[in-house]
Amino acid sequence: MEGKLYFSKYTKVFEKGGVFAYYHSLRMKPIYVDEKLHSIIQILSKNGSQKKSFENLLNEEKLQAQQILDVLIEYKIFSKDMDYDEKVITGFRNGLPKPYIQIAYFVMTELCNLACSYCFIENKMDGSIVREKVMTKERAKKGLDFFCKQIQKDESMFKEEKNIIIYGGEPLINFGTLKHLLNLIDQYKVLGKLPDKTNVSIITNGTLLTSEIAEVLKNNNISIAVSLDGSNECANSCRKFQSGDKAFDDIIKGIEAASSVGCNCGLSITLTEETIKDLPQIEAVVDKYDISSLGFNILMTDENFQVSPKYNEEASEFIIKAFELFREKGIYEDRMMRKAKSFSNSKIYLYDCGALGGNQIVIAPDGQVGICHGYLYNREYFPTSIDDDTFDPTTNDVYLEWNKRTPINMEQCIDCEALGICGGGCPQNAKNNSQNKSIWDLDDRFCVHAKKTLEWLIWDLYQKTIA
Ligand code: SF4
Ligand code: SF4
Repeated sequence: MEGKLYFSKYTKVFEKGGVFAYYHSLRMKPIYVDEKLHSIIQILSKNGSQKKSFENLLNEEKLQAQQILDVLIEYKIFSKDMDYDEKVITGFRNGLPKPYIQIAYFVMTELCNLACSYCFIENKMDGSIVREKVMTKERAKKGLDFFCKQIQKDESMFKEEKNIIIYGGEPLINFGTLKHLLNLIDQYKVLGKLPDKTNVSIITNGTLLTSEIAEVLKNNNISIAVSLDGSNECANSCRKFQSGDKAFDDIIKGIEAASSVGCNCGLSITLTEETIKDLPQIEAVVDKYDISSLGFNILMTDENFQVSPKYNEEASEFIIKAFELFREKGIYEDRMMRKAKSFSNSKIYLYDCGALGGNQIVIAPDGQVGICHGYLYNREYFPTSIDDDTFDPTTNDVYLEWNKRTPINMEQCIDCEALGICGGGCPQNAKNNSQNKSIWDLDDRFCVHAKKTLEWLIWDLYQKTIA
């Protein structure tokens, strides 16, 4: 007797110009069919009977429908097992990796010489709280020892790539400690306390970057990411010195100083409402200064900082257009690339940042240790310090909660087409904008970006398939 076929609830159907893409949001391999096959699949999805659905077809059509059905079954769009959907999501949930530290942010200082209007750290700092805002050399060493201890907790993971991110405030304000830390990292690699594949990068506003500093960074193989929002004063109008003076010229001088010693900078571009109107100006900066990498940041919002109603859509479209443009030049924007990789490998992308998953520590100048640099201002989710020899992320409540916060564990996400490629956005932004003040709410701006990106990936693949 013919067995019933069950249409997966994770299947989403996309249509463009008479072509239909069937896409399982967890298996992530689109299957493209024409209108005729689409109608047959629709009937089959409702009655579950291959015999009934195929009965009026001519022999040749039957053969074609059978071939497509075999692929749809292989990619789990249809299953003979009525419980398959439940089994697949349970499998992913049970297979979540445990929290394991792979990324360390070293906050060299909480001080900054700029006062950017959208800064989600500085703008929230409570000036009345007294604490040490500049990391000493001793604390940097203790912080590095703390990181080394954490990465040794799982021997099988020790040799995997690790990332150290030098951060602030403006980290170059504290260049003495920074240099000390870089020397220690080198020594620790030689001693085997850090794996060879330890990447170090710095995120700087560029205004203090001189050729001498760039030389030191270059000699230590440090990737430099400069925060810049466009090619002129206007596009950078949110980036100002504390005095109110514009910072653009000084940022460019910094990039030029780095370039003069053969150090190519990457750009960390915050997508302001100005920036997203003008892709050519970003292209001009990338070309002029031989920019090596790009990362776009969609503006974060809260009760004090809002964007126009169309911003999320437009920023997402900008990122897609920029990705199309820059991949031709061999530069792959980070945020899109992570999703593109997940899609092309059909590998579910669980977490869009290191804090999610519980894979990151943020070491504050005073030695407190937290999971997300976005909470430096109030030290929420900072459960420990570099003096704590017993800290274990696999038993810590903060790390365990953030480890679970992935779309596959969120009811709001289960029916979403972007479930497999999304990674869940930024929990801090979700919480800032949620009525419940919970990291478990959706990061709405990110949902727009993830869904638009998925649609683009599906049709980009289609174009490549028929080319
Ligand atoms: S939660 Fe948001 S602010 Fe914090 S590390 Fe992740 S992306 Fe960054
Ligand atoms: S966070 Fe938004 S885009 Fe991502 S899976 Fe959930 S609902 Fe979809």
